[in-house]
Amino acid sequence: MKRIIPTSVICLLVFFSQYLLSAEAKEPNRFIGLHDQLLAFEEGEIAVENGQLMVPIEKMARYLHADITSSENGQRLTIQKNGQRIAYDRLTGSTMVNGIPLGLEMIQAKEETLYIPIRFLGEMTGFEVDYIPTIRTARLTSVTSPHLNNAQFEEKVRNAQVKKQAEVKRTQGERPVVYLTFDDGPNKNTPSILETLKVNHIQGTFFLVGKQVNYFPELVQKIQAEGHSIGLHSMTHERSVLYASTENFMNEMNEIQQLIRNLTGQTSLLIRAPYGSYPYVTKEMRSSLIQSGYKLWDWNADPFDWKIKIDDYQQIVQAVKNEVEKAEKKNNAHIVILLHDREATAKALPEIIAWLKNEGFHMRAYDPDNHFVNNFYDDPSL
Ligand SMILES: [Zn+2]
Repeated sequence: MKRIIPTSVICLLVFFSQYLLSAEAKEPNRFIGLHDQLLAFEEGEIAVENGQLMVPIEKMARYLHADITSSENGQRLTIQKNGQRIAYDRLTGSTMVNGIPLGLEMIQAKEETLYIPIRFLGEMTGFEVDYIPTIRTARLTSVTSPHLNNAQFEEKVRNAQVKKQAEVKRTQGERPVVYLTFDDGPNKNTPSILETLKVNHIQGTFFLVGKQVNYFPELVQKIQAEGHSIGLHSMTHERSVLYASTENFMNEMNEIQQLIRNLTGQTSLLIRAPYGSYPYVTKEMRSSLIQSGYKLWDWNADPFDWKIKIDDYQQIVQAVKNEVEKAEKKNNAHIVILLHDREATAKALPEIIAWLKNEGFHMRAYDPDNHFVNNFYDDPSL
């Protein structure tokens, strides 16, 4: 007879073995807060013993501005703060408070360093000590100095952590993936853009307008042949026509999709709404898009290249830098830059790409198999 182990049991076993492994491999870092700051302790400098956070006593005492004295032979260490005296005798291993032996091994020596439970040290020297589990932080505060409440402190620490993570990623050379997108083509500027992308071995995403496709069908084929991604940007690009009704909107998108299919044999499901999806693309339009399997992409970096004249093309380069840095600071994993098939943009493009490359960004074309949500409504279905 076959024995069957229920899947749930296997899942549990796998879960626990992984849990044990990770718990054994590495105790997560703990932190110490003093008033509204996190103190600078190195990784592994704070130990956990029997559920207590242990800190190096001398370093912590300095943070607390306590007096630290050592006996001449180095046998006894004394910490004094707010009229309280904690002493440790290295020879006997005993801890004394105000001259009275505790009878407990409160302070522990590990090699040369002495460790003390942070709660004990804090409370003995006049601080309130809270443990905030969500940020794994023991926080010392004093009633005499104004400070944030624990929820505000937690928020502050979290924000700092997010920033730090992004910073670490940046120093490791890990930066968000950049998507160069070009709207309103194809037109006479498209060949120059294609050429720049080609010499740089980069793929972009082109959101094409139907009336333009009819003028430059061979450019649509060139875009596809050179490995770029093609998206749909309506037939007319006319605000008053396109957004007049859900029917108009869907008809225009279906029509440009068909045009591109006729020219390339490929069916694009990616739409960029002219002028941005918000506020034009109504709830009803979004439902229709979802029903037809379309995806909707806006952007998170807008250099307003369409406003800038050819002689001022450097301003586009600068605006891209600013927008990309802004988007990265917001911790976007992907940066989608809105550009247009324009002469000034085409002229700025080599410098834009050089800067992105130099900064360590990777550039990719939209990939329907790795779609990510990037619409102003944050609609996860689009
Ligand atoms: Zn457009």
